[in-house]
Amino acid sequence: MAMNYRFVGVLLFGLCSAGGAHAAGPQITVTLLGTGSPAPVMNRFGPSTLVEAGGQRFVFDAGRGALQRLRQAGVRWQDVDGVFLTHLHSDHLVGFPDLWLTGWFQGPQRDRPLRVWGPPGTQRMLGLLRRAFAVEIQARIADGAKAEGAVLIAHEIREGQVYAHDGVRISAFAVDHPPLRYAFGYRVDYGGRSVVLSGDTRHSENLVRHATGVDLLIHEVASPETFARAGLSAERSRPVLAHHVTPQVAGEVFRRTHPRLAVYSHIVQPSATEADLLPATRTIYDGPVVLGEDLMVIVVGDQVQVHAAQAAPALDAAPGQAPPRQAP
Ligand SMILES: [Zn+2]
Ligand SMILES: [Zn+2]
Repeated sequence: MAMNYRFVGVLLFGLCSAGGAHAAGPQITVTLLGTGSPAPVMNRFGPSTLVEAGGQRFVFDAGRGALQRLRQAGVRWQDVDGVFLTHLHSDHLVGFPDLWLTGWFQGPQRDRPLRVWGPPGTQRMLGLLRRAFAVEIQARIADGAKAEGAVLIAHEIREGQVYAHDGVRISAFAVDHPPLRYAFGYRVDYGGRSVVLSGDTRHSENLVRHATGVDLLIHEVASPETFARAGLSAERSRPVLAHHVTPQVAGEVFRRTHPRLAVYSHIVQPSATEADLLPATRTIYDGPVVLGEDLMVIVVGDQVQVHAAQAAPALDAAPGQAPPRQAP
């Protein structure tokens, strides 16, 4: 795997006897592109997750800096098959115009339309984005960019299977993230492996239903301590905390769904540390759980392997074009 950052360790979870230690079997590879939330910090970019399975690549949510992280991971925008949006909060979207436009005309130019799945409202938003960037799109085409590469195809979703191709199935399920009317989590299934992304949600029985027995559960979390440390009043923090889950509530979700591995991403506030999150989780849940970090890679196969990035890469850590990553 060609990447321009170093791994410092591999953690293994859930050894499986079937096939023996050397039989990799089907795999789903998950790269946490951004593990943050709205706060504009350097160590956790906006929420975005790359999922690779069966030679296909998908980006779930497109927070701030998604394109930079994708490039650091060695994945070309040309090779991404689609984007799935969990909901239309801006921290999950502000990286989208950058992915779509810069990814299109920079480097190896994208020459095929981009499919985007998202909640009701997605089609209108994408149409408005096209209008907002009409001058830009015409100018790049006049300079030789391939028009097909800027085309967006919207798929507005409901709960249920939303994608199936070559053994990869993606399903959406409703979660609970007021005051938004529509918010979804996603489940990816491939070759008997499974990954669930919670999206943003407070406690959701529907998530528990869809995530029970999953191999990898990527779950959001909010740490009340970090709000207090940031000096935010109870009045300011209360509505935010009411739309997310505390580590204790997440621990209850993990205890009931018993994933082979639980990973925290979408950390609110992004200054939260392991000490803020893991001991509180473990008061409820004693299974495998790790705090996600940007560019952490999790390979879901016979084993669940976590490759932790050494550190958040420096601003200039990725000059030039990273060599493309081999298809999974
Ligand atoms: Zn969010
Ligand atoms: Zn949200």
